[in-house]
Amino acid sequence: MHFWGVRGSIPSPGPETARYGGNTPCVEICAGEERFIFDLGTGVRELGAATKGPLVANIFLSHYHYDHLQGLPFFGPIFDRRNRFTIRGPTRNGRSVKEVVSEHMQQPFFPVTVEMVFRAQLEYQAFEAGDRLRSNGVTVSAIEANHPGGNLAYRVDFRGQSVVYATDTEHGADRDAQLVDFARGAEVLIYDAMYTDDEYAGREGSSKIGWGHSTWQHAVRMANEAKVGTLVLFHHDPTRTDDALDALLKTAKKQRKATLAAKEGLVIKL
Ligand SMILES: [Zn+2]
Ligand SMILES: [Zn+2]
Repeated sequence: MHFWGVRGSIPSPGPETARYGGNTPCVEICAGEERFIFDLGTGVRELGAATKGPLVANIFLSHYHYDHLQGLPFFGPIFDRRNRFTIRGPTRNGRSVKEVVSEHMQQPFFPVTVEMVFRAQLEYQAFEAGDRLRSNGVTVSAIEANHPGGNLAYRVDFRGQSVVYATDTEHGADRDAQLVDFARGAEVLIYDAMYTDDEYAGREGSSKIGWGHSTWQHAVRMANEAKVGTLVLFHHDPTRTDDALDALLKTAKKQRKATLAAKEGLVIKL
């Protein structure tokens, strides 16, 4: 598993975020013969730049907020006819994944369309909560997380090991229990830890309740309840500096030793 983009909401480049990285969500998971890319945030540009030779991948979109889709037009391999991608995601507001992808690349938002420039072999497939993809011994499944407009949390199972990608979810709803069940026993849980409890509740700055994101404290609680191996704090707030993230991680590790903060270039091998 390779983290290419770990930042939430908006790219946040600059000297104070250079160590953890400022690109928005993109996580690559290779299992057996299969390659999966979760979300097409700006991190996917780096993935594309690092790719040599033909590329075949299953792309899963969690939802269509800008930070999870805006890297697609800059994903180099999608301009190469030797490459093949299946893009999967849920139907939202009556629009299929294909319609959403096409609509975000058109005037007045973008100068060229999918049809004009993408040359890779592209297929689109609906993937909804409760769906399962089985391929070459790998299973990918999804449930609905708690996020305005919806968001899918994904689980990848391969040879008795599992990774759960649960970005963009706000704790405190019935869905918490479902997510704990969904993540139960996973080797790795990647979880939305955008805020601290104080930030979330409005004790520091304005309240973030209802914005669709969780806290590192809740990430720790979820990981403990689900008895996962490693917790990876993800979707960092764009204003969180590297030093602040170091401090946050240090505090989190005191509560749960097997905790990491996602950073660009982090590779986890299972
Ligand atoms: Zn997001
Ligand atoms: Zn979102």
